[in-house]
Amino acid sequence: MPELPEVETVLRGLAPTLVGQTIAAVTVRQPALRIPVPAILSQLLPGQTVAAISRRGKYLIFQLDSGWLICHLGMSGSLRIVPRDTPATVHDHVDLALQDHLLRYRDPRRFGLIAWTTQDPLAHPLLASLGPEPLSDAFDGAVLHKLVNPCRSPIKTVLMDSHRVVGVGNIYASESLFRAGIHPATVSRDLTRRRCKHLADAIRATLTEAIAAGGSSLRDFVHSDGNLGYFQQQYFVYGRTGEACRVCGTPIQRSVMAQRATYFCPACQPLAGADRPVEDSGKR
Ligand SMILES: [Zn+2]
Repeated sequence: MPELPEVETVLRGLAPTLVGQTIAAVTVRQPALRIPVPAILSQLLPGQTVAAISRRGKYLIFQLDSGWLICHLGMSGSLRIVPRDTPATVHDHVDLALQDHLLRYRDPRRFGLIAWTTQDPLAHPLLASLGPEPLSDAFDGAVLHKLVNPCRSPIKTVLMDSHRVVGVGNIYASESLFRAGIHPATVSRDLTRRRCKHLADAIRATLTEAIAAGGSSLRDFVHSDGNLGYFQQQYFVYGRTGEACRVCGTPIQRSVMAQRATYFCPACQPLAGADRPVEDSGKR
């Protein structure tokens, strides 16, 4: 599933080619995505120019002359720019024809979506209740503490709830918790402000590095035929069950939380409990 860094990289890859281009035609081969592709698009979009592309969480927002296209890549979606005469294959559901290129939406599992709005896209029902952007200036330890403090659920599950904070999916939740030295099963309300600051910093660092890694593969991505995939990164814990922790050498453990595989180092991320004093319990 594309996560925030992948979507940010898609945005950065598409923007230089797309912004300023006028849409000549729209082809919808398969409208049955997570929500149906509006039939009106093929009449509405031709002649409109792409003024800007932005991102909110994992949604891409294309600003056109008379409204906004909102796109989510779901589990397996990709957006590619291909030459205009490129034949479509079975999962290429939507094409926007530009002057020389096609913007092609491909989605084998069809959990993605393309929506249209003429109102403020940030107020659209899909986006209105999303949590803060972890890479924005407004996100810090105090904000994170306020968001997670009411929750009795494990911190990893809360981090992955896009209504609390957007863009921290399974991989980056595990990686951020490792960097912050927080066990993924820690009860959210038990996290102090200080540990929330460490966690907010870790989330920001993890996502920023992933975006930087994505930037180096941008050219390949935009012109390639394959699915989005994940960037080649050296993870600390994700997918490393039984391998040595890169910091202390302890074997990485795997557990399942809220049906998602969760990875952690039991030594670097101790679960605060009866056998171990909570290191900063007086500073809540
Ligand atoms: Zn370790």
